[in-house]
Amino acid sequence: MRDFTLTQYRNLISAFLRAGYTVMPFADWCDCREEGRVLILRHDVDLRPANSLRVAQLEHELGVRSSFYFRAVPESFSPAVIRAIAELGHEIGYHYEDLSLLRGNRDEAIIHFQDCLVSLRRFYPVRTICMHGAPATAYDGRDLWRKTPDGGHAYNYHDYGIVGEPYFDIDFSRFFYLTDTGRRWDGWKVSVRDKVPEQELWLKRGWVFRSTDDIISALDNRTSAFAGQQPLMLTTHPQRWTDSTLAWTAELLAQSLKNMVKRPLVWLKES
Ligand SMILES: [Zn+2]
Repeated sequence: MRDFTLTQYRNLISAFLRAGYTVMPFADWCDCREEGRVLILRHDVDLRPANSLRVAQLEHELGVRSSFYFRAVPESFSPAVIRAIAELGHEIGYHYEDLSLLRGNRDEAIIHFQDCLVSLRRFYPVRTICMHGAPATAYDGRDLWRKTPDGGHAYNYHDYGIVGEPYFDIDFSRFFYLTDTGRRWDGWKVSVRDKVPEQELWLKRGWVFRSTDDIISALDNRTSAFAGQQPLMLTTHPQRWTDSTLAWTAELLAQSLKNMVKRPLVWLKES
């Protein structure tokens, strides 16, 4: 069976439900801080927002709610799609990249951040944010929330009505993390920023999956990361998940090219 289709996505979420996971959007988790077999379900809407609406509808059919993070750029920010996804009961969040859009100017970036929150909040009362990795730029969006090396001011997203940012508010020594970055489930190896330090430890434990079927079978057999009470966050990029053969093939080719470009970037960053 082809991977990264909507059919396969439905199989994946159904497997989590069969395995007894409570599925919730990130903002809900920030409110309850529940542990145990919890799945925080997150989607980064990097482009092709219509695909995200299809994922949102599919989850609605399965009785599941999740978080959709929209960028403040035309290829992601679609008011019609944002409204429709919110109406299905899902959470809408801001997929921020202000520091790279403003080429590292922190004072301009924080103003841009606030403006974008205002724009998004016309459609939904946004409470959580999540960094867009932007592998081709030199800027790490999260640096806005950190002091500069010379002691410059660190902004605080809580000051803007934000209750959570996964990279800061989830303790990955307790949470497992799965992302379809690179159009595979072990793609963090080729990811520039969508990675957490614990991945090396998980690798040693054998908590590594390549295909969606690998995850489904581990879920059904209660093995690997799904044997115990480990909560997890799962991130998808809905632009990759499609049942259309043409779009599916185009995404496969585009991602293969991107992985070839990203690999040297990872090496540069790590060397
Ligand atoms: Zn992104």
